[in-house]
Amino acid sequence: MYSGILSCVIFAARSLNRMQPNVVRTEVFEFDNRSMDRQNNMERAAQLIQEGKLVAFPTETVYGLGANALDPMAVAKIFALKERPSFDPLIIHIADLEDLKKLTSEIDERVYLLAENFWPGSLTLVLPKSNRVPDIVTSGLPTVGIRMPANEIARELIRKSGCPIAAPSANKFGRISPTKADHVKKQLPDVDCILDGGKTTVGIESTIIELIEKGFRILRNGIITKEDIESVLPFDETEKTESIVAPGMVKSHYSPVKKMMVADESFRMDIDKSKAGLISFSGKYETGFQKVIRVSETNDLKEYAVNMFEAMHTFEDDIEIDIIIAEPVAETGIGKAIMDRLRKAEYNWRKD
Ligand code: AMP
Ligand code: MG
Repeated sequence: MYSGILSCVIFAARSLNRMQPNVVRTEVFEFDNRSMDRQNNMERAAQLIQEGKLVAFPTETVYGLGANALDPMAVAKIFALKERPSFDPLIIHIADLEDLKKLTSEIDERVYLLAENFWPGSLTLVLPKSNRVPDIVTSGLPTVGIRMPANEIARELIRKSGCPIAAPSANKFGRISPTKADHVKKQLPDVDCILDGGKTTVGIESTIIELIEKGFRILRNGIITKEDIESVLPFDETEKTESIVAPGMVKSHYSPVKKMMVADESFRMDIDKSKAGLISFSGKYETGFQKVIRVSETNDLKEYAVNMFEAMHTFEDDIEIDIIIAEPVAETGIGKAIMDRLRKAEYNWRKD
């Protein structure tokens, strides 16, 4: 019953989106400290959010595709434009702790402890939702994912709009996440507005956790690691949990339109390197590749995370490249989050 109604709303939003492409001109506003129009641009973007339109904006993780989280019709437009399945819930972005109280039905002490330590920042908390949160945001679940982003443009937009903002990454469902405004334009040319805040500083999506009786469960790895969280919350049930329930966590994701493979540790591969682009981390395997993008000069995993999606976009757009090869890293700490993205990005291509 619920999913039937949801599908109708998204279908209606999709039809509306289709009727509009020639009318809608994306408004793109560049934000830097020299911009004289910063204030006006922000007000215009907030006005669009209030009118139920979609605004793409930078967060420190990746660019988000934002709508008023309390307006079901606006949220339906996100699903329609992204072609995102209705079973995949959205994260709500807030600017102040006060907003958290309005969106959740229960907050225990641990939530404040986590907020104090990691917000603003790239940690999403899955919490019991309040009645104010429309079902379309949570795909009908009784819980809601909430995050306070560290990016100031994001928080200013939320405050000016006067509402929490639901925002998944600003790309077509299943495709490479955007870390620059140009990546958003490439995949979502019909979005109403893009706030261009330059390249994002973390580069991969937030860590998502759910609190359980004895501790927490990681639903998605990110730059904030299990060890970081354990230093604040003493118990962790992650290892003991057999199956992790996070709708929308599909095997194929973050995928380029070109063939992509993660190399094995010995880099033995049956490919024509003259047509291949290498996403290189250690610098050890670069010989023979048509093009190489070195994601870090100092073997820093944080830099791998920051530059990984951009490298995938660059090779996807390069006509000399037919196949994208990524260097693997050890799956510990931030390496877990990086390998999770790379494995999903190559998933469909490995099955060929
Ligand atoms: P993104 O597409 O990066 O915005 O991430 C959204 C992801 O967060 C979804 O695909 C879910 O896996 C997860 N998520 C959001 N809300 C919930 C929730 N209430 N319960 C469990 N996972 C959630
Ligand atoms: Mg996404």
